[in-house]
Amino acid sequence: MDFSLNEEQKMMIDTIRRFIAEELHPLEDALEHTGALPEADARRIHAKAKELGLYALNMPAELGGGGLSNIDRIVCEEQFGHTTDMLIRRAFGNVYEPLLHCKGAQIDRWLKPAVAGTRTCAITITESGAGSDAAGIKTHAKRNAQGQWVLNGSKHFISDGEWSDFFLVSAKTGQKSDGTGGGAGEISMFMVDKGLPGFTVGKDQQMMGLRGTPHLELFFDNVVLEDDTLLGEQGQGFKLAMGALNVVRLAQVGARAVGKATHVCELMVAYANDRKQFGQRIGDFQMVQQQIADSVIEINAARWMVYHAAWMLDHGMDAREQIAMVKVHAAETLGRVVDRAVQIFGGMGFCKELPIERYYRDARIYRIFDGTSEIHRGVIAKAAMKKGAVLFDVNR
Ligand SMILES: Cc1cc2nc3c(=O)[nH]c(=O)nc-3n(C[C@H](O)[C@H](O)[C@H](O)COP(=O)(O)OP(=O)(O)OC[C@H]3O[C@@H](n4cnc5c(N)ncnc54)[C@H](O)[C@@H]3O)c2cc1C
Repeated sequence: MDFSLNEEQKMMIDTIRRFIAEELHPLEDALEHTGALPEADARRIHAKAKELGLYALNMPAELGGGGLSNIDRIVCEEQFGHTTDMLIRRAFGNVYEPLLHCKGAQIDRWLKPAVAGTRTCAITITESGAGSDAAGIKTHAKRNAQGQWVLNGSKHFISDGEWSDFFLVSAKTGQKSDGTGGGAGEISMFMVDKGLPGFTVGKDQQMMGLRGTPHLELFFDNVVLEDDTLLGEQGQGFKLAMGALNVVRLAQVGARAVGKATHVCELMVAYANDRKQFGQRIGDFQMVQQQIADSVIEINAARWMVYHAAWMLDHGMDAREQIAMVKVHAAETLGRVVDRAVQIFGGMGFCKELPIERYYRDARIYRIFDGTSEIHRGVIAKAAMKKGAVLFDVNR
C-alpha cells in the first residue's frame, strides 16, 4: 500500500491552489452578493485555466482533455472544492462522460467543442415528478413519418442551464406515445441544442446556496430532433446517465466535499487559535477541541474513502457501492464540519461578513443531489445483504 502523492500530483495540487487563490477567491464575494458572474470574468478564468492545462481534466488527452487517471482526477477535484460551484464550472469545465459515446459527425459537433470549452453542456434527468426515481420520467421522444424524433416533456433543477449551449436530455423512447410506459430500458439520451423550435427555457429556480449557478426549468414542445442527436444506442440512456453520475458522484460530490470541508476546517482551526474569551484561546476549551478533533478525523476518513474508490476504478473494479458510501460519508462529513465551523465562529459564523454562513448553505445540497443519502444508503444496505462481508471486510 502506498499512500504518498507523487511529484506530478503535488505539482497539480500546487498549480490549482495557486490558481484558485489568485484568480477565483477574489471573485467569490461579488458572485455571492450579485448572484451572477460577469461574462468577462468567466472568459478570463476559462482562458487562464485552459492555458494551465486545467480545463476538462476528465476527458482523454487525444481530444484535448487532461487524460487523467481517476486517482489523479479526484486529487484535482478535491482542490476544486476549495472554491465555489459556478467558478469551478467556468474555469475547469463540466464535461459529462456520456459525451464520449459520440460517434461520426457527433464528435465534431458536440464532443470536441465541449472538451475545448467552446460549447457548454448540461445534463438533464430530473423532472418535477421524477427525482430519486430517475426512471419514472415522463419526457418522451417518438419517431415521426420522416424518421425524425419528436421530443415532448419538461425538466427542472438543471444546473448551469443558462450558460449551456446544449443539453443531454433523458427521454422515454418506448412504444407508449405519452411516455408513461416502459422502465429504465426504454430511456434514451439525446443531445438537444438550445434554440431549437419548441425548446423553451423557464425560470431560474432560486436555491438556498450555490449563488451564481443557475438552475433552470426546460420545456420541450414537439421539438424535432434529427437522428444523429441520439447519443449511444436507443434504450441505453439510463445506463449512460447512471454510469456518468457514478463518476460525477465520486469526483464532484465526494472529492469536492472533502476539499470544501478541508477549506472550512482550516479557517475554523485558525479562528480557534486566534479568538480569545475568558482570557484564553477558545481552542483551549475542551468542547471546542472536540469539534476540531472530530472534524479532522472525519475529513481524513472521507478522503481515504474517496481515494480508495478512485483506485478501484483505475484497477478496473466495480466501485458502485464504494462510491455510494463515499457519497453519503463525504456529504455528511462536510455537513457536520460546516455546522461545527458556524458554532466555533459563534455570531460571526452566522454573520454575512464572513463566508462561513455561505459554506454552511452551500454544503446542504451535497446530501441531496446526485442521489440523496437515503437512496445511497438503500443501495449500500441491499448490496450488503446480497453480497455479505465483501462490502466491509478485507480480502473477501
Ligand atoms: C441545486 C440542485 C442542482 C441540481 N442539478 C441537477 C442537474 O443538473 N440535472 C438534473 O437532472 N438534476 C439536478 N438536480 C436534481 C437532483 O438530482 C434531485 O433533486 C435529487 O435527485 C432528488 O430528487 P427530488 O428533489 O425530486 O426529491 P425526491 O426524489 O422527491 O425525494 C424527496 C425525499 O424522499 C426521499 N426518498 C425518495 N425515494 C426514496 C426511497 N426509495 N427510499 C428512501 N427515501 C426516499 C429522498 O431521499 C428525499 O429525502 C439538482 C437539484 C438541486 C437542488
